[in-house]
Amino acid sequence: MIATVGLTGGIGSGKTTIANLFALHFSIPIYIADTKAKELVANNKQLQQEIVTLLGEEAFVEGRYNTSFVAQEVFSNKEKLDKLNAIIHPYVQQDFLQWKQSQQAPYVIKEAAILFESGSYRDCDFIIMVTAPLEERIKRVMLRDKIDRKTIEKRIKNQWNDENKIKLSTFVIDNRDFDRNLDKIQTIHCKIMEMIDENAEN
Ligand code: ATP
Repeated sequence: MIATVGLTGGIGSGKTTIANLFALHFSIPIYIADTKAKELVANNKQLQQEIVTLLGEEAFVEGRYNTSFVAQEVFSNKEKLDKLNAIIHPYVQQDFLQWKQSQQAPYVIKEAAILFESGSYRDCDFIIMVTAPLEERIKRVMLRDKIDRKTIEKRIKNQWNDENKIKLSTFVIDNRDFDRNLDKIQTIHCKIMEMIDENAEN
């Protein structure tokens, strides 16, 4: 049985950057839940219908996901955001399990921004939490996505704070700079491999 390692962290903490290091250096298959969710929303008609039922016809314009409308609807309305995530999450989970079946590796990494918020951390064998100072994260995302500070702060408000996430994590990676990141993930990779071996023996 392949182990599932959840990888999470706040917006701009460096989840994808860290996940890519595991893929590059240890050939660990990585599943980026946010990217997959976007693909599913773009292509799965049944999912699209459920989103329209929640948010209205405006959620899609000529068959395309109306991201600016949806963001406006959900990022200042926590209840709607939770409902939207609850609609999308089961599709992503099913897609992830299907994907995992076709992988050959001691473990796979599931990277998800809302691993805790969605409850999917419960299905993980181990959890890696990536952290970076709030101000640094905001600056990174402003630079990467060309969006304003207010929009990012709104999104951060809807996520759990780092302290609560750290309490439930197996490993924490401090990604305030690129320094020693490879050493850090090497240590974590070795520990995960040890724990997988121990579990197999018991
Ligand atoms: P999101 O939650 O928005 O998906 P993320 O947590 O996956 O973000 P990344 O996309 O990996 O974060 O990183 C955000 C930006 O910060 C990227 O442009 C990335 O190149 C940069 N970055 C990542 N790690 C560092 C670091 N240690 N120092 C400086 N910049 C970094």
